[in-house]
Amino acid sequence: MKLVFATNNLHKLEEVQQLLGSTMALQSLDQLGCFDDIPETGHTLEANASQKSHFIFEKYKADCFADDTGLEIEALNNEPGVYSARYAGEERDANLNMDKVLLKLKDVSNRKARFRTVISLLINGKETLFEGVVEGNITTDRKGVKGFGYDPIFIPNGYETSFAEMDIIEKNKISHRAMATNKLIAFLKNLK
Ligand code: IMP
Repeated sequence: MKLVFATNNLHKLEEVQQLLGSTMALQSLDQLGCFDDIPETGHTLEANASQKSHFIFEKYKADCFADDTGLEIEALNNEPGVYSARYAGEERDANLNMDKVLLKLKDVSNRKARFRTVISLLINGKETLFEGVVEGNITTDRKGVKGFGYDPIFIPNGYETSFAEMDIIEKNKISHRAMATNKLIAFLKNLK
């Protein structure tokens, strides 16, 4: 089965393809020939994931899924949440985003946070949503260089290392996207 993953983020594509194995070939937006700036104007992760999958389905009539992820920090009323990518500005700079979080949490003792992913799957136009959550804490300084986004400042519960100090296999055992993707995979297997 071929399925479009509505992303051009190669890290994400690699993470999800690693979970899927060879049973299913994922097609990125580039590979689909889609170079549109897909609108993400929702105010929730659910709304954005759904908006992206519907855009692809309507334009290309392809079975597809889209995800949206947010870092929800308890002491910041769940900010940056749905605004995680552009928390520090339109340039979507991961370093500036992390600086902003670390500054806002300066002298804040409650460092609890979670990553939450929502996936919207559209098969023959019928939508199903999947959610994955990983709870953890925000560090006081960056740790590690792997991964992307806020990985260097997030330590999942039960670990001493940040996501950016883990290799992809380790991160995929516990990550928000892995949890949501595993639910997606179980659902797809049941379709057959
Ligand atoms: P997206 O909408 O799924 O692309 O996620 C929004 C933003 O959340 C990204 O631009 C990243 O800054 C951040 N993000 C998403 N997934 C991860 C992750 O696995 N690790 C760290 N940051 C992430």
